[in-house]
Amino acid sequence: MKRLVILGSTGSIGTNCLNVVEAHPDEFEIGYLATHSNVDLLYQQAQRFRPRVVAAVQPPQERDWVTPFTKLGIEYLTGAAALAEIAAAPDVDVVVNAVVGAAGLPATLRALRQGHTVALANKETLVVAGELVTAEAVKNDGLLIPIDSEHSALWQCLVGEARHRIETLILTASGGPFRQRPKEEFAKITVAEALNHPNWTMGRKITIDSATLMNKGLEVIEAHWLFAVPVDRLRVLIHPQSIIHSMVEFVDGSIKAQLGVPDMRLPIQYALTYPDRLPNQFPRMDFAFSRRLDFYEPDFEKFVCLRLAYEALREGGTAPAVLNAANEEAVQAFLREAIRFDQIPHLVDRALQQHQNHRQADFDDVLAADRWARGFVRQRITN
Ligand code: MG
Repeated sequence: MKRLVILGSTGSIGTNCLNVVEAHPDEFEIGYLATHSNVDLLYQQAQRFRPRVVAAVQPPQERDWVTPFTKLGIEYLTGAAALAEIAAAPDVDVVVNAVVGAAGLPATLRALRQGHTVALANKETLVVAGELVTAEAVKNDGLLIPIDSEHSALWQCLVGEARHRIETLILTASGGPFRQRPKEEFAKITVAEALNHPNWTMGRKITIDSATLMNKGLEVIEAHWLFAVPVDRLRVLIHPQSIIHSMVEFVDGSIKAQLGVPDMRLPIQYALTYPDRLPNQFPRMDFAFSRRLDFYEPDFEKFVCLRLAYEALREGGTAPAVLNAANEEAVQAFLREAIRFDQIPHLVDRALQQHQNHRQADFDDVLAADRWARGFVRQRITN
């Protein structure tokens, strides 16, 4: 029986994670749950899964939640620090980090310092501070297992393989909803269009990132740190059907790929059961229906965010933290219709150009770069 912490339990990854847990009651139990602000759903989850402790980062003020949770015999914590606190709880086996954005970083760190296994959906953790985070994992015998479907695919392809025999990691990308839209029309893209992803159902922030291909850029940086592969051996390939979730080419030219129906429950379940596998009722691939598998090179001129992510990774230091923070702010502004779709890469680009890079960055430098980039973008949006 594995006892789990789920940070971000009311989001898309969190609820899918609870589906996996519910299907395997003899394998998993829930010790701790945390939400950003959806305490209604958190309470329903608590009634069902009976964790010891729940937390809400920013609960709505109008209602008292202490009494209902106390009646269930569950401790209720609030505030941003609660995430890191329950991530470091001593009596857990896997910490699922499904927090959105750089806000997930402190919890990943605390869990790794405790020597925990972290099932990581929060890719921003590795984008912002990949070098520092992976060093903490090594130092404290913690383990990072990816939930991101591409990185889960790479992880599965690399079981039993030596990392130094990797030639290239090939991350596939659906191309998002605007793969065939001319760049000249990007200024007119609406929030509703950008939120309509062809293959995956996800949270709002990551869905916009998938439309700009920033998500793939963040994933390239994530892969660099997870698998210790240099930037010129990380390749992105557009694959509209999202059946091949990623591939590894080895030094002998052999290529391994992981395939499946696009369904986040599979990489979530694998992260929870690794190195084992468990049967499930998820939809299956049927090659008899001979699906087509198409592949294209990505268009770096059209999807500027992808190019900027490669540039930030090459630059190193605090550049990826600036890329991420500027993007988070720009995406939030686009979602509230304060800027146009094509202004997202423009603002990220400006932030990267104006930023004073710290190459030997510690955590304080990274957090300072994050704050600086948010302020830079916010100022340009209000002006
Ligand atoms: Mg992904």
